Amino acid sequence: MNLTSPSHVRALLDDIGFKPSKLLGQNFLIDRNILDIIIKTAGLTSADHVLEIGPGLGVVTQQLLDKAGSVIAVEKDKRLFAYLQEKFKDVPNLRLINADMLDVDTGELIESGVQKVVSNLPYSVGSRILVDMMMAEPNPELIVVTVQFEVARRLAAQPDSKEYGVLSVWAQAGYDVEMVKSISPGCFWPKPEVTSAIVCMKKHDHFPLTCMQKKVFFSLTKKMFAYRRKQLASSLGRVPDLIKMSQKEIGAILENTGIDAKSRPENIGIAKWCELVKALTYGK
Ligand code: SAM
Repeated sequence: MNLTSPSHVRALLDDIGFKPSKLLGQNFLIDRNILDIIIKTAGLTSADHVLEIGPGLGVVTQQLLDKAGSVIAVEKDKRLFAYLQEKFKDVPNLRLINADMLDVDTGELIESGVQKVVSNLPYSVGSRILVDMMMAEPNPELIVVTVQFEVARRLAAQPDSKEYGVLSVWAQAGYDVEMVKSISPGCFWPKPEVTSAIVCMKKHDHFPLTCMQKKVFFSLTKKMFAYRRKQLASSLGRVPDLIKMSQKEIGAILENTGIDAKSRPENIGIAKWCELVKALTYGK
């Protein structure tokens, strides 16, 4: 069975009586070239333990098993899970889990020895799964995923652009983010309505904040980007649960960190966000 041949995939789905669900983002990869790029980007060796989210019919899984030491694959769909269990029943280095990835403790999986995540993520929950990875303790060393093109642009966006938002700041605080390649809808079956992209995220050696500061960083940036069009000096005064300071004190902190009080969240780069968090939590 060649899972990168559209006719083989259609025949297989007919054979097992499976109708792909749009809700679960079941668009199966049928392009050999894209598969090769994903696997090459992940740079797998037999020392790697890999997590795959949404193995589907197993087209990526098979490659991961060939190249990595072991694979954990989390599939939400019961029917696909049963199909995969049968297909890979004699494979000792694969652990299949039938679960919704949003209910899985990512940090626990990473702690169990997984360093890399390689997946064609389901569109509807792709960003949420990535946010879980960014916030997990510890985080994966490398994340190679396909996501909707718009999500890829937000992940890799730079300050002062309209795509730059909380997803960009969270991703780039912990990772070097690269959009590797865009993928046309025809590379999947059934064809999705949107273009996708492969994104590679390589973890930085150090997260620039302590554990406590990291929590403040995530909640502060989330709140500030909720007031995206507002000037930072005034938005910082709107979150008394997080910042118990007078407007004068806030002004002084912005000045000391070299942030123009008139800046908006979309103008602040990662390093400045981190400096701001350090200044706001000084002595705590
Ligand atoms: N890896 C396969 C491929 O490349 O052809 C399938 C990728 S398909 C884009 C997304 C897969 O994620 C489907 O198999 C779907 O059933 C599964 N899925 C959807 N939501 C999920 C969730 N919340 N947790 C785990 N798997 C999920």
